[in-house]
Amino acid sequence: MARYIFITGGVVSSLGKGLASAALGALLQARGYSVRLRKLDPYLNVDPGTMSPFEHGEVFVTDDGAETDLDLGHYERFTGVPARKTDSISSGRIYSNVLEKERRGDYLGKTIQVVPHVTNEIKDYLRIGEDEVDFMLCEIGGTVGDIEGLPFFEAIRQFIHERPRGECILLHLTLLPYLAASGELKTKPTQHSVKELQSIGLAPDVLLLRSEHPIPQKEREKIALFCNVRKESVIAAYDLKTIYEAPLAYHREGLDQAVLDAFGISPAPRPNLTRWEDVMDRMTHAEGEVRVAIVGKYTQLGDAYKSIAEALTHGGMANRTRVKVEWVDAELFEREDPAPYLSPFHAILVPGGFGERGTEGKIKAVEFARTRKVPYLGICLGMQMAVIETARNLAGVTDAGSEEFDHEAGGKRFTPVIYHLKEWVQGNHVVERKVTDDKGGSMRLGAYSAHLTPGSKVAEIYGATEIEERHRHRYEVDMTYRDKLEACGLMFSGISPDGKLPEIVEIKNHPWFIGVQFHPELKSKPFAPHPLFADFVRAAVEASRLV
Ligand code: GLN
Repeated sequence: MARYIFITGGVVSSLGKGLASAALGALLQARGYSVRLRKLDPYLNVDPGTMSPFEHGEVFVTDDGAETDLDLGHYERFTGVPARKTDSISSGRIYSNVLEKERRGDYLGKTIQVVPHVTNEIKDYLRIGEDEVDFMLCEIGGTVGDIEGLPFFEAIRQFIHERPRGECILLHLTLLPYLAASGELKTKPTQHSVKELQSIGLAPDVLLLRSEHPIPQKEREKIALFCNVRKESVIAAYDLKTIYEAPLAYHREGLDQAVLDAFGISPAPRPNLTRWEDVMDRMTHAEGEVRVAIVGKYTQLGDAYKSIAEALTHGGMANRTRVKVEWVDAELFEREDPAPYLSPFHAILVPGGFGERGTEGKIKAVEFARTRKVPYLGICLGMQMAVIETARNLAGVTDAGSEEFDHEAGGKRFTPVIYHLKEWVQGNHVVERKVTDDKGGSMRLGAYSAHLTPGSKVAEIYGATEIEERHRHRYEVDMTYRDKLEACGLMFSGISPDGKLPEIVEIKNHPWFIGVQFHPELKSKPFAPHPLFADFVRAAVEASRLV
C-alpha cells in the first residue's frame, strides 16, 4: 500500500507547489521508489476543460482523455509517469458525483452533508490506485484558510487519522518575506499559516520555505520551535534559474532526506541523480541560440502554451542550444505584412487554438513560412491553418476555411476543408457526437494512434511508423481533399488506423514543414525530448547557420 505525502501551501498563492511536488516525485524516483502525483483543486468547475486559458493557463490532456490542470504537465515532465483521469479532481467533480449519487438514491434518503458525504467522496478518490505505487503525492490547490479548500483539508485530516501511524506525512510550502528596511526575513506569516493548519487538526512534518535570501540557522531554529517541526525538516526553497534545477536544488537542501526521515525510513536508499545532472548539463552548456516565433492568440500569457514552451526548451536541450521563444499576436498579420516581423526568426510555430479570431493572421504566417522556406511546425489548429493555406493558395479552393468558423458566425462563408467530426473510432468502438453537445464533452480527447507513411519525414523523425499521441479537438481535415492537396505538395503522411482521419501533413520540398492534428508537446520531457520538437529545433539551428 502506498505511503501518502500531502502537499499544502500557505501565506500566498503561486509559490510553486506544483513544481515542488513534481521535483519531490523525481527525487523519490531517484531513490528507486515508484510514485504517482495527484492534484486536488478546490474550484467548482467540474474540470478545467471549459476554463479560459487566460483564467487558468493551458489545459493538460492525459492519455485517457481527461482535460486537467497544467500542474499535471509538470508532474509528467518531472517523473515521466503518464497522468490519468483520476489524478486530477476538483470540488466541482466531487460535488457533482455526490449529487448524482443522491439523485440515484444511493444514500437511501439520508441528509446529504459536507461531512461525511463530501469528505468520504474525497477519501474514496484518494485511495484510487493505492496498491500500485510506493508513494502517492497529493497536492491541494489554493492556500490554507481558503473557505473552498476546507472539505479537502478535513478529508485529509480524517484520512491521516484512519491510516496506520507513519503512512502519511504533510509537507507545507510557505514564503519567508524579506524586509529590506530591517534586512530581515520574516517568519511570522509562516507561523500563522501553520497555526491555521493546526486549527483544523493538521500538523506539517516538513516545511518548505520559499525565500529570495539565504535563511540563517537562527531563523530555521525559530521556525522549527514555533511550528513544531524538527529543525532538519525546515527546508529552504530558493529561487531557481530554471525549473529543471529544482530536483538537484531541493536535494541539496535535504528535502527528500527530510521526507524519508518523516516516514522513519532508515537507512534511506541512496539517490541516483544522473538523469537530472545530465539535464542540467545540457541546459548550462548550451551553445548558440535560435529564435522561434509562436504565432497565436493568447500571447500575453505564457501559461496558455506552457507545454509548448517547455517542449521547445527540451528540443533545445537535445541540440545543446538555447531556444529563445517570442510570442507574436496573430491578429497583427491581418493588418500588416508578416515579413518584417517574422524574418528575424529561425522557425515558426502555430499552436493549437479555438475560435476564428486571429486565424487569417495565422494563415499569413503559414504562407510566409512555406514560401520563404522557414521551418514550420503547426500544432492542431496550426495544422488546420496549413491545410487551409495550401487549399487557398495552391489548390484553387480560394474560399477554403473551417466549419468551426462558419458555425461560430452562424452562416456559410467558407468551403470547409476542415469539417466537424460526427463520429470516430476509439479503440474498438464508435463515438458519436453532435455540434449541440455540451461544450465540455464534444471533443476527440486523449491518446489515439496513427500510421506514418514509410519514407516520410515524420517516419524518419520518429524512427517508427506507428505512433500514439494526445488529441483535443472537434474538427478534422476533410480526407476528400487529399488528392488535390497532395498534388500541390502537401503530403498526408500520418493517418488514423481506420484510414479516415488525417493526423499529419508535411511538405517534402521544404526544409521542415510539418502539421500535426495532435499535441506532441504534452509528451515531451527534459530527459526525453519529443522527437518532433528535437528535430524542429535542429532545423532551426540549420536555418540559423544559413543567415
Ligand atoms: N479548434 C480546432 C478544433 O477544435 C483546433 C483545436 C486545437 O488546436 N486544440 O479542431
